[in-house]
Amino acid sequence: MPVTVGARRGAAKRDTSDGPMADVVVARRAIDALRRGHPWIYASGVVRGPSGAPSVVRLFDEAGAPLGYGVYDPDSPIAVRVFSTDPAVPLDADLFAERVRRAIAVRRTLFADGRTNAYRLLNGEGDRTPGFVIDRYGDVAVLRLDGAAARAVAPALTRDLEPLLRADGIATLLERVAGKGDAKEIAVRFGPPASRVEVREHGVPFMVDLLKGQKTGAFLDQRENRRRVGAIVERRKAAGRGARVLNLFSYTGGFSLHAALRGGIVTSVDIAAQAHATAQESFRLAGVDPAAHTFAAADAFAFLERARSRGERWDVVVSDPPSFAPSEKAKPRAISAYRALHRACAAVLADGGTFVAASCSSHVSLEDLAHTLDDAALGRSDLRLLELYGPPPDHPTLPAFFEGRYLKLAILE
Ligand code: SAH
Repeated sequence: MPVTVGARRGAAKRDTSDGPMADVVVARRAIDALRRGHPWIYASGVVRGPSGAPSVVRLFDEAGAPLGYGVYDPDSPIAVRVFSTDPAVPLDADLFAERVRRAIAVRRTLFADGRTNAYRLLNGEGDRTPGFVIDRYGDVAVLRLDGAAARAVAPALTRDLEPLLRADGIATLLERVAGKGDAKEIAVRFGPPASRVEVREHGVPFMVDLLKGQKTGAFLDQRENRRRVGAIVERRKAAGRGARVLNLFSYTGGFSLHAALRGGIVTSVDIAAQAHATAQESFRLAGVDPAAHTFAAADAFAFLERARSRGERWDVVVSDPPSFAPSEKAKPRAISAYRALHRACAAVLADGGTFVAASCSSHVSLEDLAHTLDDAALGRSDLRLLELYGPPPDHPTLPAFFEGRYLKLAILE
């Protein structure tokens, strides 16, 4: 695989196999975003770049002034993923290792209480390693490389990854590779193979299926929100209020289990029956009898319609649907879909109930989410917006990179 890597600082920028590092000339209109720290340069922002396989490149403006370093893919709409905007800091295995080391150090502080051992160890763009994501599940880590460019440069940039991860207690590194269509394959980068692991989130045990699960196995980004839902149920119980919980798009039951452990009686709805099986396993691990709760393998919209017509009500409704807006163009339709979903949720929310609505569409902002929860959308005027949240701290983002803040959560009562 042709890979061009920056040499050590100060030395000639030469790779052992490919000759000199290639240059990319960045258009003037793309430089403002670059300076603000947006880590992507779109194809339209590239004046000139090398053809052929993706590689590490030096970035220049049109007058020939150096701008930094990135990974270039001539065939991708995201042409450059920027790693460095300091011409004195080239992109090489040393820089990559430094970024990983920093990311690990931050997580050590975040999870120092030892109650959580599943989290995002390296969050791509947000940890200034665009295209490289690592999720941790106990002593197993899963690497995800976004795009052909990350895959092409990974062998050179991740030279020191194994010792860094091993020093942090990771015994196995898997790599999630996108297969044909939706099929995904897992490759072992080091250590004994692993497929199912038991992890803890705020002390709550979870079963994670690394092979069949979505994302790298679980939706780690909702951890803090799952804890929040548990706390909502606990407060309601303590105040003698109802704690019937409806968890829509429940997947492997993260919100459900946190709610059940705090005394909620939970109905979990997901179209995937397999996800319910994993959820029930986690319930048993936590000492909660799944038979005391309801698991419905159903389309959430059809479920809500049926429940409404039967007059069923819940005290807490959680909605965490898959992304509705894959692109900016799809945004108006996504907003309408959220409004319709939220109206259907509000119709089954008991008086004085708590409504927890999430959106993971990167093109829908926090303000947009609030807009899908207004009185007209919900068809009722008795709810107040209590809390709004963005992504958790193990999913850091860059201020200039709004795309990273895809996860939003609103709590209404
Ligand atoms: N809340 C979950 C993550 C949800 S991911 C957690 O905390 O882990 C979105 C889930 O929605 C997936 O499990 C998917 O199977 C489910 N899903 C997608 N479309 C659906 C539909 N129309 N009805 C019900 N579930 C659906």
